[in-house]
Parts: sequence; C-alpha cells; structure tokens
Amino acid sequence: MTTSFLISNIDAIMTGLHGAAARHAGPDIRVVDGVIGAIGKLAPLPGEAVVDATDCIAYPSWVNTHHHLFQSMLKGDPAGIDASLTPWLAATPYRYRARFDEKLFRLAVRIGLVELMRSGCGTVADHNYLYYPGMPYDTSAILFEEAEALGLRFVLCRGGATQTRQLEAELPTALRPETLDGYLADMERLIKLYHDPSPMAMRRVVMAPTTPLYSATPEELRTMAGFARRAGVRLHSHLSETVGYQDTAHGKHHCTPVEFAERCDWLGDDVWFAHLVKLDPSEIALLGKTGTGIAHCPQSNGRLGSGIAPIRQLEEAGVPISIGVDGAASNEAADMVSETHAAWLMQRARRGQEATPSYAGGSFEGGADAATVEDVVRWGTTGGARVLGLGALDGLQVGQQADIALYRLDDPRYFGLHDPALGPVVGGGRPYLKALYVAGRAVVEDDGIPGIDLAALGREARQATRRLLAAQD
Ligand SMILES: [Zn+2]
Repeated sequence: MTTSFLISNIDAIMTGLHGAAARHAGPDIRVVDGVIGAIGKLAPLPGEAVVDATDCIAYPSWVNTHHHLFQSMLKGDPAGIDASLTPWLAATPYRYRARFDEKLFRLAVRIGLVELMRSGCGTVADHNYLYYPGMPYDTSAILFEEAEALGLRFVLCRGGATQTRQLEAELPTALRPETLDGYLADMERLIKLYHDPSPMAMRRVVMAPTTPLYSATPEELRTMAGFARRAGVRLHSHLSETVGYQDTAHGKHHCTPVEFAERCDWLGDDVWFAHLVKLDPSEIALLGKTGTGIAHCPQSNGRLGSGIAPIRQLEEAGVPISIGVDGAASNEAADMVSETHAAWLMQRARRGQEATPSYAGGSFEGGADAATVEDVVRWGTTGGARVLGLGALDGLQVGQQADIALYRLDDPRYFGLHDPALGPVVGGGRPYLKALYVAGRAVVEDDGIPGIDLAALGREARQATRRLLAAQD
C-alpha cells in the first residue's frame, strides 16, 4: 500500500538544480512512499494528508560533507581562538581528544546533529578520527545510533592514522596511532555492519585517514585506496587547508599536495577533500580532470585564517563542489544556513579582492558574479549528494528522495525580502523550520525535534563544559 501526503501552497521552491531548473513554480509537492511523486499545481487526493506550506519556502535538505561532530563540545576554546591551523590543532582538538569518554562523545554528537537539523540538514558526513588501539567505546556505533535516532542519513568517514604528527608526541598513550592492519580490519567490520551502497542509502562508510600527508605513508595510502575501491567505498580526507600542506609536500616529496595525492592513487570521482584552499593552477586542472570533489568549509577557513578556496575556478575546471561545516571547534556555528551564507559572501569577496583599477590593467569592478544563491544551494544540496554518491538525492524533482526543508521566514532579518527564496542564503541566521523531511519522514516539525528537549540538552552541555574545564590541570 502506498502512502502519500501533499505539501501545499509553497511560496517559492529552490530545487538544487542547475540553470533554469534551479527554481520550480510549484506550488505543491506530493510525496509518495518517501519519494517526490509530483510537483506542480496539485489537488489533494481523497483522504490524503495535507501540510499547509503557506508563506513557506522549500529547499532540498542540506547535505553536509565534512564535519567532526565530537568538536561540538569544544567551541570557542580561548587557547585556540586566535590560532591558525597547526597551533589550533594542538591547543584545542588534540589537547581535548583524550578527555572524551563515551558519554561526552555521545553528547557532542547529539548537539552537532541537532544543530545541523535545525538548519535544515538531512544528510551528514562526519570525519571521525577518535580511534585508538584498545579503545573502550565504539565511536562509530555511537554516531550511527545518534543519527538513526534523529532520522538522518549518515555517512561515517572513518578517520585515523598510522603515523603521529610531531604535535601529538606529548599526548597520552591512549591517543597512539593504529596499525594499518588494525585500521583496515575495522574498516571491514564497519562496511559489513553499516555500509549500504544504494543511491538512497541511510548509512554509508568511507575510508578517511585523517590527513594524507601526515597520517599514513604513501605506500599505506595506496593500500587504503586499493582496499576502498575493491570494497566499493569512497575516499575522503583533508587537503591543502593551509600553506603548511604545500611546505610539507614540497619538503618531503618534492611535489604539490595534489600531485602527492595522485601518486598515492588518491584522486578520482570517488574521492573528495575538505578545504583545498591553497592550490596552484596545475592542481586545479588535475582535480578537475580526475573529477575529484571538494567539501568547501568557508567558515572554518575564515575562522582559522586559512584563506578562501577558489570555488569558481574549481567548478569551471570540473571539480564537484559541496559544502561542509567542519568541526565546531574551528567554526562555532556548525549549521548549513550560516555555512552557505558564508560561502555566498566569501566567494564574492575573494573575486572582488582580485579587482584592480582599470588604469592599472583591471577589467572589472567587483566580485558579485562569483556565486549566485542558486549556485550555493546547488553546492550545499545536490553537490553534496554527488560527492557522497547518493544519486537519489538529486534535488527537488520527481523521482528523487523526498529530502525537503520547509522554512518560514518569521524573523525580522527576513522581513522586506523581494524574493523570499533567497532568504536563508542571503540573510543567514536561523529561519523557522516548519518541517524537515528525510526520505519523506518528518524529522523536524514546527521547528521542534520530536524527543529532543533543547533546554535539557543545553543544561547537559553546560555541565559537561564545566567538567571539561575543571579537568584541565
Ligand atoms: Zn576537518
């Protein structure tokens, strides 16, 4: 028996698609068995449930392609607040990593997922690197459990390292690296337990050593890539976040970071990298030629002073673009509305920064053509589905999964908008979430998450933060 419901009288629809297809007049969307059955002017079928979406706008649910959920308990750490990437890593995530136990990890994951959901995010890829030999709790299981309890699609990017970075040298032995065999054995376990290769999967596993240049040897990286491809899982990691990557690749391997990835079989349309801020033109061309994707993390790149990734050039070269919030220890607002708002602004700022006066050879005044709202919505939705290989999340069109965010722009920051569809991206903030659907199931209703008491979650977070701070000495 099929079940359907009608989302009716939507004010404006962004589809997540290209060009003229980026918008749909609607005003109604029919959801049939978790799939978009029809879009247009539709009358309710006899007995069909109707969701009144008057004054609401519809986006595809956001797809977040890079995160470290455990960092949701490490926001605004004064020791790292003004530090660039490498000292920040030592000051905040690595310093606190050993203090996580099962309870604190679960709380952090829940906070991060709830924050994302309330921005309209339905799919989360988490790059989790809390693993060490003999670990007394299973972070992978906790991530899948928490995401499932909230009704989200979840992609576990299984981080980890076989090598230590200099800055980890003084950390507790509980953070010692894994062996390659141990890492691969756990990948095999996770794939068996959780990995669903289908294009509408609710659960996926990805091979994701934390940072190719530092986490494993080139030989091990090649072994990992071969393993992943035989197992049919994707590859993900950090790359070229700062000039430090360029120095390391140049100093240790006499090449660029992207060339290093190529030598290790780490380029292709089954690979995506977070950041890719510092790239030379040959690297952009190589990424494009191989179809290697990016998780663009503009807020984290801004917060750590890393720079602004050249998204326009990457897209023109053929690189699949997606958006990731990155961990909340280098972001503090790990939600997809603020992230896409930042992406929209920062691409324009980056392009504008290149403008020079015409008397000095310049040919343009500013950078407002660097990213449209439609571009940003596409990157943050269907772009994300593409890098994750979730082919059934190809935007708001018939036959695709009904992953839909319905916003109502009740906050004064949205009052006076000539084109409401632009609101979340141009305004940022947090629009009222009338509903969030994942595979047609309402996981947020009337701005609330069933089963989640936000005030209680806030109290728990405050207590846990106090305990973390008290345990510092
Ligand atoms: Zn990251």
